[in-house]
Amino acid sequence: MERQTTCPECGGDNVFAHNEIGARGGYGPDLLPGLSGIFSIYGAKMRVVLCKDCGLMRFYASNEALAKVGTETGWVRLTENQ
Ligand SMILES: [Zn+2]
Repeated sequence: MERQTTCPECGGDNVFAHNEIGARGGYGPDLLPGLSGIFSIYGAKMRVVLCKDCGLMRFYASNEALAKVGTETGWVRLTENQ
């Protein structure tokens, strides 16, 4: 996937990324359930892209998490009827 280095909201190029965000916080929901390793207490890893100009945050599942997406981990592929 080609990564966009400009912000889709404001068009600015003051965009930063962090690759090691855990998808499960201490008090919040697990945003990527079923996709973490067995021993990970912080959930699957996410990449967060943040625009320093307008504050838009974009979240992307890590490649490791994406490899586990499927019905066996509770993820249902959307169709036009859903
Ligand atoms: Zn922006």
